[in-house]
Amino acid sequence: MTVLQRKDVNPIAHLTAQDVEDIGRRLEQIRAEVIATRGERDAAYIRRVIDVQRKLELGSRIVLFASLFPPAWLLGTAGLSVAKILENMEIGHNVMHGQWDWMRDPKIHSTTWEWDNASPAEQWKHAHNELHHTYTNVVGRDNDLGYGIMRVDEDQRWHPIYLLQPLWCFINACFFEFGIAAYDLELGKNLSSKKRRSDPEFKARARQVLGKIRKQALKDYVVHPLLTGPAFLTTMAATATANLVRNLWTNSVILCGHFPEGVETFEKHSIDGESKAEWYLRQMLGSANISGGKAMHIMTGNLSYQIEHHLFPDLPSNRYQEIAPKVRQIFDDYGLHYVTGPLPKQVGSAWGKVLRLSLPNRMALRLKRRPARAVAAVSALPGRAGFGRTESLPIPA
Ligand SMILES: [Zn+2]
Repeated sequence: MTVLQRKDVNPIAHLTAQDVEDIGRRLEQIRAEVIATRGERDAAYIRRVIDVQRKLELGSRIVLFASLFPPAWLLGTAGLSVAKILENMEIGHNVMHGQWDWMRDPKIHSTTWEWDNASPAEQWKHAHNELHHTYTNVVGRDNDLGYGIMRVDEDQRWHPIYLLQPLWCFINACFFEFGIAAYDLELGKNLSSKKRRSDPEFKARARQVLGKIRKQALKDYVVHPLLTGPAFLTTMAATATANLVRNLWTNSVILCGHFPEGVETFEKHSIDGESKAEWYLRQMLGSANISGGKAMHIMTGNLSYQIEHHLFPDLPSNRYQEIAPKVRQIFDDYGLHYVTGPLPKQVGSAWGKVLRLSLPNRMALRLKRRPARAVAAVSALPGRAGFGRTESLPIPA
């Protein structure tokens, strides 16, 4: 459906319609292999992670009873930060994707899980699983791409307000869980008119978010600090710090997933009539990995394998590492760019894009390392219908 526009570099121009279909078939095969071998080993993995996380959180909260003593404050705060990151990333995000639903354990199930986050599970699942994972990197349809508040593409009209984008992006990172709650609620859109503001469904969802925030605040800033008695203030400061650390970390990981240089974005109507194979190809081109060791993979909830996660969002996260070489082989076989790099490089790349796109295009162009801009359409391939423009620019997620 989509039209070719300003096509300087098209990263998929060399692919035939048959190639795209073959890529889809090979990916389906990888998926089927994991599903066929999914079992007790995987179940034991997630149970162990949940067990470790709960013990770490409890232990850290106990250590904070002694938080008037600075080393105990540091230890408790560090432990609580790690526990909160694990809870959101390797557990919450993945359980709510339904990655562990096959275990048929009602306690580790996408329909029952609630997480340590301002956004209620129900609203997050809709915004993330249904919108972000369907419309990945489609400008104007994927709110994760700039959270609906940032300029993430040269084609978005520049306005002087975007000069503040780096500052806004930093504030959003510090309060990321509230940012997530706000865009899950589509706050900007829903507050824009009286009709939308007074819509009973929006009001009910807003009440649900406020209720969740109250509950979270009560646990972190009232009950736990009160339990520690004289250490009330130091415990409260420790919890606030752990939440800040978790927000900054998760924001960085999310930025690395779809923003770094080499990741493609797609036009709004590029996905009309998109086939499953084309959907796979868009996920391949629209995601980026983070390289690193085992600790990095667990702390990012295996979103260090963002490409594999976007191809197979409902496969158990502990299997992404195993299938990554096979996925990468497909990229190599078809001359596609598997975007990956260490965390500092990817975060730097993402922030570089945030800064660059805060400027008008003519100034931003001077900051670009590569002059090329790719606008592609699978629809231009023989026998192909409905894919879209991609860009290959130095950017960020
Ligand atoms: Zn996801």
